[in-house]
Amino acid sequence: MAKTYDVVVIGGGPAGYVAAIRCAQLGLETACVEQWINFKGDPALGGTCLNVGCIPSKTLLESSEQYHHLKEGIDSHGIHVEGVKLDLDRMMARKEDIVLQLTNGIGALFKANGVEWLQGHGKLLADRQVEITHRDGSSDVVSADNVIIATGSVPIDIGAAPVDNAEGLIVDSTGALDFRQVPETLGVIGAGVIGLELGSVWNRLGAKVVMLEAVEDFLALADQQIARDALRQFKKQGLDIRLGTRVIATEKTGDGVKVHFKDKDGDHEIVFEKLLVSVGRRPNTDDVAAPESDLLFGERGFIHVDEHCETNLPGVYAIGDVVRGPMLAHKGSEEGVMVAEIIAGQHGHLNYDAIPWVIYTDPEIAWVGKTEQALKTEGIPYKIGTFPFSANGRAKAMDAAVGMVKMLAHAETDALLGCHIIGPYASELIQETVLAMEFNASSEDLARTIHGHPTLYEAMHEAALSVHGRALHKINT
Ligand code: FAD
Ligand code: NAD
Repeated sequence: MAKTYDVVVIGGGPAGYVAAIRCAQLGLETACVEQWINFKGDPALGGTCLNVGCIPSKTLLESSEQYHHLKEGIDSHGIHVEGVKLDLDRMMARKEDIVLQLTNGIGALFKANGVEWLQGHGKLLADRQVEITHRDGSSDVVSADNVIIATGSVPIDIGAAPVDNAEGLIVDSTGALDFRQVPETLGVIGAGVIGLELGSVWNRLGAKVVMLEAVEDFLALADQQIARDALRQFKKQGLDIRLGTRVIATEKTGDGVKVHFKDKDGDHEIVFEKLLVSVGRRPNTDDVAAPESDLLFGERGFIHVDEHCETNLPGVYAIGDVVRGPMLAHKGSEEGVMVAEIIAGQHGHLNYDAIPWVIYTDPEIAWVGKTEQALKTEGIPYKIGTFPFSANGRAKAMDAAVGMVKMLAHAETDALLGCHIIGPYASELIQETVLAMEFNASSEDLARTIHGHPTLYEAMHEAALSVHGRALHKINT
């Protein structure tokens, strides 16, 4: 007889492990099937995000920023530092240590909450049965009243640049988080979020980085005023970003990889020591469901779900990167909480209109809600308030007075429709507007909220005041 659970979650990334913990908190007997084997050869929880995504990338972004700052950014404070040296092995060891601490932490949370970790590959069969294939090739079948599929995503391949992380010449983000020497030159195909973050890491550590981006619009998903500012800043930092390029082919040479590409000026080739392919990710649905399960897949391979993340099969849900919506860890986690609560007979809640985006470059870029170009396309009447960090005392004191806050509010109701930031700690600042939008606040609500002085948050306050032409620390136009 197959063991029966209230809930079996397939995948232990930020969507799946959060769903499992919330289910257990709600008194449901829960198991999570996870197959990840980490860099030490051990089974690990945490998925892409903790093992090879958000956490290691932010760790290296922080380390590389500190290095770069000590080398080049601190003289203006009247502090002269000499003899700054890079110990890349130590930097990588720190990253690995943080990854292990956090992934082991999920194991401890599972134990504390009573979630059973079934190690191996999970596959949905008919009637909410799940087959688990273990590392030694043996398999079992368990049964569940509810199944949550949270199998995440994997990098998209392009034929012109086949990735081989083990060889380390043409790599995806996992390979680029693990270079053991700073390459002299790094080519990056795709100037999206991963390209910009990992391109920044290696640029700060001394590589010459060239980014080949297919489309003409830089950061097409972002507000284009912010994107234009970002492009200027990144070019100033030495990132060579070439828009409207098409990679035709790559070939390995004795000293790296030669990339053939086209742009409006014709055909070109550049030899790079390493090449990062970061052209997006696709849902990971490889061998996730047997044909007899009748699970329905939708556009571009995503598992088809309704607004409550339920699939075409009653009692079978899918969450995180494997379903529609932004591929962001916090979006998957919130879907996990929502589904757990729905299974437990509660209502569940997720506001897809208030999901923050952050790009952890320097300056950081963050946004929530609609861009100005989307409001124009949708014909929604809006007002804009902006405030530059160059007029913010705290940003000046930090020597980080670049960028701006841009707030968008409905022209008639004043409801906040979006906020777009490029500047210091944009990742943290954005959360004020996420909360405000969650509470259906207006720009007037933010304008009438007391903000501490001197803080970066005053730039948020001033942008909200500026929606009504009454910013206090800039000239209103
Ligand atoms: P995943 O994290 O991919 O987890 C899926 C899990 O399912 C994996 O552990 C996998 O082993 C397991 N699995 C798959 N199939 C099976 C199966 N059949 N049986 C058993 N187990 C299975 N997002 C952010 O919000 N902020 C960031 O700063 C950020 N930085 C990123 C940096 C990089 C370099 C990358 C690559 C991604 C980053 N992301 C970031 C995106 C984020 O990692 C994903 O959105 C997030 O991990 C998705 O969570 P998930 O649980 O849906 O999938
Ligand atoms: P992306 O969608 O952000 O960027 C991919 C870029 O590659 C796009 O600009 C696209 O136009 C370009 N592109 C596509 N095909 C190309 C080609 N053949 N040649 C040249 N350019 C090409 O994808 P990504 O950077 O790979 O990241 C994947 C996802 O991971 C992101 O969408 C995001 O959801 C998630 N992520 C998030 C964070 C964060 O939240 N800070 C960080 C890293 C990754």
